[in-house]
Amino acid sequence: PDEVYTERTAQSLAHMERARTVMPGGMTANIKHFAPYPITINRANGSKFYDVDGNEYIDYLMGYGALILGHAHPHVREAIVRQIEEDGTWLFGTPHDREVTMAARIQKHFPSMEQIRYANSGTEANLLAMRLAMAHTKKYKIAKFEGHYHGAIDSLLLSIHPSKSDAGDQEDPQAVPDSGGMAPNASDDTIILPFNDSKSCARILEQHKDELAAVIIEPMEGGIIAPKSQFLQQLRKLTKKIGVLLIFDEVKTAFRSSMDGVQGLYDVTPDLTTIGKVVGGGFPFGVVGGKSAIMEQSSPLSGTDVFAGEGSQTSQKALFHSGTYNGHPLILAAGIATLDVLEQAYDPLVARTDRFREELTHLFQKHDIPMKTVGNGAMFSVLLTERQEINHYRDLQMCDHGSRKKLDKALFEAGVYTKPGNRYSLSVVHDDEVLTKTLEAYDRVIPEVLR
Ligand code: PMP
Repeated sequence: PDEVYTERTAQSLAHMERARTVMPGGMTANIKHFAPYPITINRANGSKFYDVDGNEYIDYLMGYGALILGHAHPHVREAIVRQIEEDGTWLFGTPHDREVTMAARIQKHFPSMEQIRYANSGTEANLLAMRLAMAHTKKYKIAKFEGHYHGAIDSLLLSIHPSKSDAGDQEDPQAVPDSGGMAPNASDDTIILPFNDSKSCARILEQHKDELAAVIIEPMEGGIIAPKSQFLQQLRKLTKKIGVLLIFDEVKTAFRSSMDGVQGLYDVTPDLTTIGKVVGGGFPFGVVGGKSAIMEQSSPLSGTDVFAGEGSQTSQKALFHSGTYNGHPLILAAGIATLDVLEQAYDPLVARTDRFREELTHLFQKHDIPMKTVGNGAMFSVLLTERQEINHYRDLQMCDHGSRKKLDKALFEAGVYTKPGNRYSLSVVHDDEVLTKTLEAYDRVIPEVLR
């Protein structure tokens, strides 16, 4: 037991003991866990949050990247309150005007999303994207990349963190379930691809093209590993040629890695795109968009909608898409307000993030510790490695995670919160003062833990 830790976080420990009696592991999401126990946060302000013992942390988690304006940005708060006061409710369950306003805001940055549907999470958005692809192609398998996460969907919850012994060859990755409780056939309709390897992708996709509805990809792996030059272009060309749709999962990257997503950065047009996180302003949200011809399949005006009262005798049913909270007015108000602020504040945010990354890199050089940052825009990771190039999940596996965990813990104790996994999501309110404080914390802890 780490006495310094338990002394500083005694109230968190007490909370966790209570939480464990009502929730498995005391958690509502497994990712929130870290050893010996995670701290309990109960207050936030801008770029910082505070635990139940009163400790202050600079928050780089930022709601898993969702809070790009920091905590409770006044413009978003105002929009939420105004929405409730003007409309007299927070849920209509009917069409309303913000649904169209938001669509136009998204399309300004993602012209590939010709038509749009809303869902309640990135996971749900990806479920709909897959169904649209299957309906459109009349094929029922999906290809995904090793190391890429698309939500808790059985057919995609595969090979995200495969162990070296299960994963198969680099050029021919195998489907490895990432969870217990999945049916043994959960992986039967999923093909696994290696990121940044056009040649292997072409071979595998050609082999399965007659069964494949779509390739789904995080075009910047994990939101941090850049695609090699021409990798996305070649994937676009190939999928088009073999009649397989291309789905970009930009849940993490949209409005964070770039305002126009990875597709804007690399000038590649997918058939379907899913986004979430930032665009929901910190509330549960997901969006699917893409080519009209594909999206139109979910229109109740095409085919027979089972809920339109026309019976379900005819063969051509509209593709099912529904949800109690789809297009939730409060979430759209928060999301639109977020984009309002971000359009002005994004470039300075990226400039600050880039400078911060450079200064961090210099600091490690000063201490003579090999390190590399990877990422784009307002999100990056610190990797302890001598490798020049990080091209995929397997390169990440080779980094010095033991040392990084030690570093992570020391930073945490110095009031810099980067859990889980030393990922930095900056917000527009991470100003020079907190960034300097972070650099000073690094300067203190590097010699303590990395030598
Ligand atoms: N896709 C990607 C790329 C993600 O990063 C995530 C969440 N981290 C999801 C999908 C799932 O989104 P949600 O947690 O909103 O279901």
